[in-house]
Amino acid sequence: MEKVIITAAVTGSRNMRDIVPNIPYTPEEITQACLESYEAGAAIVHIHVRDPETGKGIQDLELYRQVVEPLREKTDLVLCLTTSGIAGRNLPYEHRLVPLELKPELASFDAGSINLGGGVFSNPPDFLDVAAEKMIEAGVKPEIEVFDTGMIVTALRMRDQGKLLDPLHFQFVLGTPWGAPATPQTLLHMLEFLPSDATWSVIGIGKGHLPMSMMGMIMGGHIRVGLEDNIYYSRGVLADNNAQFVERIVSLAREYGREVATPEDARELLRLGN
Ligand code: ZN
Repeated sequence: MEKVIITAAVTGSRNMRDIVPNIPYTPEEITQACLESYEAGAAIVHIHVRDPETGKGIQDLELYRQVVEPLREKTDLVLCLTTSGIAGRNLPYEHRLVPLELKPELASFDAGSINLGGGVFSNPPDFLDVAAEKMIEAGVKPEIEVFDTGMIVTALRMRDQGKLLDPLHFQFVLGTPWGAPATPQTLLHMLEFLPSDATWSVIGIGKGHLPMSMMGMIMGGHIRVGLEDNIYYSRGVLADNNAQFVERIVSLAREYGREVATPEDARELLRLGN
């Protein structure tokens, strides 16, 4: 089986310190969380930045730069920057896409709209067209985030239209309160739609975290973990940090007999830079 790529999603924009005291807010804290995840075995980090004072998610180029530059200096991590903006708040498209200026190797591409976090996570067709075009221009590979099956259909249609380029890379986001549930059946059903040269990774939100990680492991997929997606290490026990989640996947991989991908391996597996 292929090596397993572990992505750490260290902060996101929704989980706040009143519930998760150790969630990173400032660029320094976010950078540190990425470094710890890297040392634990993550090949990719998925990055959002936050207003350092309030902790609220913000699409600010300078704050992104303060995370991206030290990570590029100190590591060979594959960087995946978010273009999701903030659910429930409709940011202008150019704000959402501002991280592309830093030319990360990957950026999230949310292939449709859905209710999320008490609002609407709005990704209308014209935004998807603009985002896809800008990613091609910037040489950034879209990580196609799928919250429901129709989003796969959307991505495949855009690929047929030449707006998304092969080989596609999917990130299944399963177990949000409004989207597809984190069950083995959902994942198996979704995988049926993927082109044979596509790659995929899975996120289990909240209590779906460990079951979906195990599914990713045994099905030959890749796995995303971190405080953006899940704040509990085990039932009722808050995680101390992001690296803990990465370490657990590394130890599962060892037990199962799958090697953990380095960032260089991840570049090869996802055919980045092709
Ligand atoms: Zn994210």
